[in-house]
Amino acid sequence: MPHREDADALKEKYYHSMGAILTEEGDLEEAVVFFQKAIDIRETPYAWYGLARTLYAAGDVAGAVGAMSRAIKLAPGAADYYHERAAFLEALGRPDLAAGDVAKAVSLDRNYERVDEIRWAARVVEGSFFPPVPFVEDAARIRSGGLRRLLEGEGDADVFRKPSCPVLCCPAYCCHFTGRLLLHGVTIGPWKLQGLRGHFREKGLREEDLLDVFPVAEAGHAESLFPPQDVMKRGGVASVTFPRQGTSPLGRDLAGDIPKGKDYRTLMWIGEDARPCVFLSGGRCSLYDVGDEASLDPCASFLCMTGFVFVVLRSLGLMDSEAMGARSMAELNGIAVEALIILARDVYGSDEALASSKTLADELQTAVEGDLAGDDVLRDAAMERYRLLKTRHEDLIGELAASAGKRIARLFAGGVG
Ligand code: SF4
Ligand code: SF4
Repeated sequence: MPHREDADALKEKYYHSMGAILTEEGDLEEAVVFFQKAIDIRETPYAWYGLARTLYAAGDVAGAVGAMSRAIKLAPGAADYYHERAAFLEALGRPDLAAGDVAKAVSLDRNYERVDEIRWAARVVEGSFFPPVPFVEDAARIRSGGLRRLLEGEGDADVFRKPSCPVLCCPAYCCHFTGRLLLHGVTIGPWKLQGLRGHFREKGLREEDLLDVFPVAEAGHAESLFPPQDVMKRGGVASVTFPRQGTSPLGRDLAGDIPKGKDYRTLMWIGEDARPCVFLSGGRCSLYDVGDEASLDPCASFLCMTGFVFVVLRSLGLMDSEAMGARSMAELNGIAVEALIILARDVYGSDEALASSKTLADELQTAVEGDLAGDDVLRDAAMERYRLLKTRHEDLIGELAASAGKRIARLFAGGVG
């Protein structure tokens, strides 16, 4: 693909991402401008979808319905688009049309009957790994190094840092993207590149067959699109390096089983025209640890809803790898949703777990207040209690998970409807 096309695609990405950020920040008028700029370059369902939600938030309900209808035209299989348009149509005073859209969403995916519960469950489970930390305007004001480390440690769950999604039989790998990997922020930093070169030499591989280069000056707003450390001079030109795509398509059948995002929304960047990364081999990233560096950032951090739930199940010792091998991806997606709801209701969101999390948060708050007030005795006592309670909290989660584990094991054994 010529650089020009990459540059246009990057510009489109920049505009629709800005639209999303501005919407989040509440600058709806400006967000609409950015979504429209994105659409002027290339019509994508997700830019129309983003525009629809922004127009709705801005009070232009009819405009929102129109924009969502364009998104649906481009992606008629996305259940969440119908579901969202139904809410807009309700607000427009057309419950008759809304009911049709709800029925359509449910016919595409039965989970849309309980999508609010699924989203709640995902928030509960994820939130328990990344609990809110006390707000400190200037972290440098915290005097105790131990407390600073404690605050940094919270919300930084190791379990999600471990390499590779455990769903080995996923045909819709997150490493299969529609569009070149560069567009998804998959770029290679200097140390990783050095490690890769050594690896290629050792294996007799040619760098140019596996890696591609893009001169950043060709794209506007490069500073917000690429991590600065990944921009390197190649042949005298500031460029980013990224893995090439392979050639085998995902295919329509497999694309139908594509997992959803953690908010149970469509992942528009894995479509039936997706192609795998050249480094995807036997269901695994072949360069994950090359050069003693973990994988490239976006590949390392991305987990869909299914991958996310299985990472949690693995951390709790509740993942049945053997049974998984016999299940289709559609079944695994179903198991993930059922397991997520069990984990939210009976483990992470249970009354005991919530009470224990609240006590932990209170102790941390007391420690911060003690530190800021210069009261070391209060701070150290709160930190001590926090550590003790943290261990108890982990034990409690272990116990709750063990009893929920029986029902989760039955999901693996029996599959899901
Ligand atoms: S994170 Fe999701 S899409 Fe990626 S490999 Fe795992 S199950 Fe598949
Ligand atoms: S580099 Fe590895 S983790 Fe990243 S997209 Fe390629 S195969 Fe996937």
